[in-house]
Amino acid sequence: MLRVTEMFRSIQGESTHAGRPCTFVRLTGCPMRCVWCDSEYTFTGGEHFSIDSIMDQVRAFGVNLVEVTGGEPLAQKEAFKLIERLCNDGFDVLVETGNYVSTEGLDPRAKVILDIKCPASGEEPRNCWSNIERLRSEMDEVKFVIADEGDWQYAKRVIKEHDLEARTKAILISPVWGEIDLQQLAEWIAGSGLNVRMQLQLHKYIWGPEVRGV
Ligand code: SF4
Repeated sequence: MLRVTEMFRSIQGESTHAGRPCTFVRLTGCPMRCVWCDSEYTFTGGEHFSIDSIMDQVRAFGVNLVEVTGGEPLAQKEAFKLIERLCNDGFDVLVETGNYVSTEGLDPRAKVILDIKCPASGEEPRNCWSNIERLRSEMDEVKFVIADEGDWQYAKRVIKEHDLEARTKAILISPVWGEIDLQQLAEWIAGSGLNVRMQLQLHKYIWGPEVRGV
């Protein structure tokens, strides 16, 4: 059984898959406490579902792209089994993970979006650095959520030190909603000389900043 906060169909709001129809399976619980977290409603509650019943719901949505997210989806051990089942059924599976739990043992067909925590999140010391060794350049993406200039300097350093331009399909630079001037961030990115991409959370522009999920 897995504890699930919500399952729904929408469009993907982030990553190189932004704009695509996508089913979201949002698992409950997270061991992290990022100060700017916009998903605190996932920390508690949720309902228990068997993997079979999750699969039935996902099939009923009729969308090939499925994101398993949270909270921290990999904090529930059975999530690894769910991801394998989704891959077996031919879904294009994205796993958005906060880089605290090891991705070792994850089905290799699933695409990882690794959210590397920057200092202003308050959770940077808990990054699981071995996850970077497992990134596949043809399919995996990393994300840095930027709250201030210190975060941007940190992201640049990590990108260079870990050669992330070579190790990943994409490096996503995402502003904390309402915390940082978007034009300023765009200027930093444009002048960085790095192969990164600024991403805005598409769903918040469509449905507003309070929208749950997506
Ligand atoms: S890892 Fe994600 S869900 Fe967990 S506290 Fe940080 S932003 Fe929130």
